[in-house]
Amino acid sequence: MSLCRLIYSSYAKPNLEYHDLRAIMEASERNNKQDGITGMLCYGDSMFLQILEGDRRAVSHTYHRIAADNRHYAPELIECSPIEGRLFTAWAMRAVNLIDLAADRGKHLILKYSGSMTFKPAAMSPSQCLNFMQELHELQQMENPASL
Ligand code: FAD
Repeated sequence: MSLCRLIYSSYAKPNLEYHDLRAIMEASERNNKQDGITGMLCYGDSMFLQILEGDRRAVSHTYHRIAADNRHYAPELIECSPIEGRLFTAWAMRAVNLIDLAADRGKHLILKYSGSMTFKPAAMSPSQCLNFMQELHELQQMENPASL
């Protein structure tokens, strides 16, 4: 098995609602567990940033399925590279809505890794995206270990 990590960003469809995010999460948890895929999905300022880790073929199939989903558009591949090990082993897929983080923590994290407080993952480098997601992962675990 050849492990890889794929990072992409996309624009959420206009008027994406909470139930859309829930449906995405439910399908992700169900499918990713079965396919051995782990990672993280972040939503903020009408944009998605997602990391998928797992067997290269499984990650590739999943990405193509996701890219065809009309709940978002203009997916942009930020990185796809071989890895020695996973960084997000605990979750089949955890979604974080930046607006749910307390005390503007999401905004501060965005500012740490980009030029403004607006979440624009397509303007971030692969390592900025990865560091951002790792810190978000830690923040989310501290703040809200069991939620969406
Ligand atoms: P189904 O059981 O067919 O559908 C699950 C639910 O989603 C149902 O309520 C269905 O009505 C609804 N749904 C399915 N497709 C669409 C659509 N195109 N438009 C509107 N509603 C729809 N899937 C994963 O497996 N893993 C992921 O990590 C993952 N990440 C995603 C990230 C983003 C940003 C988006 C937008 C989607 C993601 N998805 C992910 C969902 C993926 O695009 C497919 O919808 C899903 O994999 C289909 O799986 P299924 O056939 O088991 O779902």
